[in-house]
Amino acid sequence: MAEDVTSEGPESLRKELERYRLVVSDLHEKIRELEAELEITTTMAEMPGVIVTRPELQRTMSRLIGKIAMIVQAEKVMIFLYHSESGELALLPPSLGVTDDQASGIAIRPSEGIVGEVYQTGESIIYNDALNDPRALPEVVSALRIRNGIAVPLVIKQRNEQERIVHERIIGVAHACNKRYEQEFNQDDLRLLEMLGEQAAAVISNAQLYITLTEEKERLEDALESIRSGVIVVSAEGRIRLMNRAACQVLQLPADGYEGKELTEVIANDQVRSLLNQTFDSLREESLEIELDNEDVYRAETSMVVGENGSPTDVVVIFTDITDIRHVEQMKTTFVSTVSHELRTPLTSIKGFIATLLDDTSSVYDDQTRHEFYEIIDQECDRLTRLISDLLNISRIESGRALDMNISPVDVRDLAQRVLDTQQQYTLRHNLTNEIPPDFPIIEADSDHVTRILDNLLGNAIKYSPDGGDIALSGVDEGDSIRIDVTDHGLGIPVRQHDRIFDRFQMVEGDSNRKGIKGTGIGLYLVRHLAQAHGGDVWLTWSEVDKGSTFSVNLPKVPQIEQSSEQ
Ligand code: ADP
Repeated sequence: MAEDVTSEGPESLRKELERYRLVVSDLHEKIRELEAELEITTTMAEMPGVIVTRPELQRTMSRLIGKIAMIVQAEKVMIFLYHSESGELALLPPSLGVTDDQASGIAIRPSEGIVGEVYQTGESIIYNDALNDPRALPEVVSALRIRNGIAVPLVIKQRNEQERIVHERIIGVAHACNKRYEQEFNQDDLRLLEMLGEQAAAVISNAQLYITLTEEKERLEDALESIRSGVIVVSAEGRIRLMNRAACQVLQLPADGYEGKELTEVIANDQVRSLLNQTFDSLREESLEIELDNEDVYRAETSMVVGENGSPTDVVVIFTDITDIRHVEQMKTTFVSTVSHELRTPLTSIKGFIATLLDDTSSVYDDQTRHEFYEIIDQECDRLTRLISDLLNISRIESGRALDMNISPVDVRDLAQRVLDTQQQYTLRHNLTNEIPPDFPIIEADSDHVTRILDNLLGNAIKYSPDGGDIALSGVDEGDSIRIDVTDHGLGIPVRQHDRIFDRFQMVEGDSNRKGIKGTGIGLYLVRHLAQAHGGDVWLTWSEVDKGSTFSVNLPKVPQIEQSSEQ
């Protein structure tokens, strides 16, 4: 070869040198490509296998984008993902060479720009004159100062066992812009970006799947933790799959991770264990009531979870707190027996006096005594009427019907005086006073209802002042409404009971002073409804145990009656 060179002179030497130069340059290019491919392979090997959180995905994408920029020598790299809800291609953070401000303004419809075209056609694009390229979006080009770029589709490829692609789906576009050192992008850059794009698509779609699943699971777990019912899921092998906080409370166990543990290790309650065994044996839903040591009552209901092949896999137990329901049932039973007693007492007395009068054929009793007997019969009849009227009103309230309202002008001071006079007849130990001012306003109201309100409040004031004492009824004109206060110096009410006494069947319990005082627990409940039927209310203004109480009732001067749907 050296001989040829000498024989053909310097011209051929120059040509030969040029040829070597080209070969070397080709080799350089090849080395760069091989280096890039090696870089891609190592990059992919470094990618975490499973990405389950958004920050993890963001970190991985940040590394990937850095590599893309290095391999294709781009100043800017952006990953666009298609969002079906908005119908737009939006940036998946982070981007490289794009400020947060610029990134937030970028959302591209599939019908616009180079990115849109790549997404729609699935064909990569290389462009080296962004300013004059008709496909480019001028506002994006100028906002990001784009000179040139390459854009490739992000394709998820599903392969079968023979590694043949069976399904392809485009999820977005990878876009690298502004080739460094003022150079232009070439086909090699495009090929490298396509390789990286395929990997990026796989990473993103796997991560999104995991993230969605993880977030969905967390949401379900949060929901399960926040519900008041206890939930336990037990596998057919007798292991706990899931046990929420409420279930731990029911079983009086510290909230802890019991998942995977043997049921027999965790649940000591024999009733719950046998309920589960029964369900596994019968393969049917079972239920039972459990009363805990603290007297809380729960209904435990089981149901089977059936697997795809129809065989039972798990049993779910749900615990519902029915303590209040049982309590109300208990109170209702007590109420019925108290009311029966309250009805029988005046009846026995009426019957007794009438029998005495009927037997008195030879007029043993003088006229005055007879008159006293008639008065007692009359008062007992009034007592019966009041009780029955209260019961009828309660029944209307309970069945959701509106109370009958007969509105007319009511002189509250006069009416209060009549109620006081009636109540005073029953007691010598209490001193009832009417402190309502003489010029007190006349209001529009149902006088029977107002009578029942004052009657109940005064009746309670007397009843719960077993040692007697002063009881005062005072009134305040409040402009659009009036307020009546009933103050006694009796037993008072413990603070913890203040809110409950207005609920139906609620009576203050566990107080030896109250032993022997009969009540039905419907008085204040009814008073509240009667006051509210006028647009007013009743509340406990003051009460101290062993000092007394003040109940206040407010009534508008003109009733604010809610329109009932009932005719
Ligand atoms: P009851 O028929 O038991 O009197 P109420 O609904 O009228 O029913 O009252 C509910 C409970 O509130 C009563 O059981 C009683 O313990 C308490 N209470 C009501 N008024 C007074 C009062 N003036 N002083 C003390 N306790 C009262």
